Amino acid sequence: MESLRVLELYSGIGGMHYALKNTGISGHVVAAIDINTTANEVYRHNFPETPLWNRTIEGISLDEFNKLHFNMILMSPPCQPFTRVGLHRDIADPRTKSFLYILNLLPRLRHLPRFILLENVKGFEKSSARQYFVEMLRKCGYTYQEVMLSPTSIGIPNSRLRYFLMAKISRDTMFSKIKIETVFKNLDQFSQEEKLQQLQGLKLRYFTPREVANIMGFPESFSFPEEISIKQRYKILGNSLNVLVVSTLLRQLIFNC
Ligand code: SAH
Repeated sequence: MESLRVLELYSGIGGMHYALKNTGISGHVVAAIDINTTANEVYRHNFPETPLWNRTIEGISLDEFNKLHFNMILMSPPCQPFTRVGLHRDIADPRTKSFLYILNLLPRLRHLPRFILLENVKGFEKSSARQYFVEMLRKCGYTYQEVMLSPTSIGIPNSRLRYFLMAKISRDTMFSKIKIETVFKNLDQFSQEEKLQQLQGLKLRYFTPREVANIMGFPESFSFPEEISIKQRYKILGNSLNVLVVSTLLRQLIFNC
């Protein structure tokens, strides 16, 4: 497996970074992002080599994210909008803004990350933020699994029930099949310029007149006189019919009717 290039959002004191390290899997954090200066000081103290961005997530452009070439996102968005004892303002809470920004950004990335892990409090599972998140994951061709886990479930005497979502890009999305579907499904959200970029990324092209003729069942021996222009070829093919369909009907007419 290729080495993981991890984007650690809402990095705090680096819990996610330690969790990654703990797995022993080869990978490194390409950027950790948080606005809490105290937490950032602690993070830098423990991971002096990791690029730490003291910036609001919603202030980071798509271009900046693309340049990081990350293939994994680890994130713990602010949990106050979803806590059981809180006001449950969910997506109306300004603290959810940055998370919604990420959701909006995800389908626009030049390369979708292969893995995403999100941590949040109990309560998130009932939120609209979670609903938007899973919808976006589905649209982008991810498979995902949600679990509620407490350290007590792995034998640690500390009750701290948390929501976790693990998302993995499906193999089909990675190897070209669903990528096309994903782009077309999300196309209406994009500006003209983004649409063009996304479509160019798919490296689509028009069928040649010969390919159109093949699909229409014309035999290899069929050809166009040289003087017929490309434009005319498309046009007259468009007026024609599917040879195989019509021959099926002819057989039916002659032998069975
Ligand atoms: N998992 C982290 C804790 C995450 S708590 C750890 O191990 O410490 C959520 C973090 O999100 C807080 O540190 C907060 O400062 C940060 N945060 C909240 N809104 C943010 C935003 N808009 N941009 C960047 N960081 C933000």
